[in-house]
Amino acid sequence: MSRVLIVEDEEHLAAGLKLNLEAEGFVTAVEENGQAALERLTRGSDGFDVVLLDVMLPGLDGFEVVRRLRAAGKFVPVMLLTARSHTDDVLQGFEAGADDYLSKPFDLSILLARLQGLLRRKTWLRGSDEAGQEEGPAEFHFAGKEIDFGEQRLRWDGGEQPLTLMEATLLRYLVRHEGQTVSRKALLEKVWGVRQDTDTRTVDNFIVRLRRYIEADPSHPVHLQTVRGVGYRFVAAPDRSSQ
Ligand code: CA
Repeated sequence: MSRVLIVEDEEHLAAGLKLNLEAEGFVTAVEENGQAALERLTRGSDGFDVVLLDVMLPGLDGFEVVRRLRAAGKFVPVMLLTARSHTDDVLQGFEAGADDYLSKPFDLSILLARLQGLLRRKTWLRGSDEAGQEEGPAEFHFAGKEIDFGEQRLRWDGGEQPLTLMEATLLRYLVRHEGQTVSRKALLEKVWGVRQDTDTRTVDNFIVRLRRYIEADPSHPVHLQTVRGVGYRFVAAPDRSSQ
């Protein structure tokens, strides 16, 4: 049974979400403002599987809540609920560390599908799909680094970097297609699960972040290569493949 924290200041919306999610078998809790949600999530004893986070909140807004949550080392999957799907809002949300977003108003069926998508990705990262089939190793080693997908962590000698669900999912997809060029459109479909409503700049934005984590010189990437006009390619051992 999955636990969902609903952060929404409009009482009737929060009550409606709670009612509908509980009817679908979720366990829910509600917070009405950003500060209270942040405190509850950083205290960390509730063990929520996913957070539904409204952007427009009194006090701390949703962007700030997710930013502070990530800064505190909390990597629970977060879905932002935005009043409109302006590209700037969407990008700002992903940049802050959100994993998905939904524009209000939305259909309950869409919300449920996206929530299940987030929860499935988490399972996929741990190394198995819904049917329990192995999806390949949960760790990957390259260039002195270890990616632990299940733990959502990148480790190297003397350091580590936690990854958001979306960062880890993108990295896993690229690693599993090592040496192949994948288009931005394919990444949006396979990683974000969206077909047309997200700007492909979201992908570029995430690639920039991943390069900061894995490249010795992020402005001259050797592992996460740009394929001009198409997309990206992950290469684990660039020296070896160029010989
Ligand atoms: Ca609101």
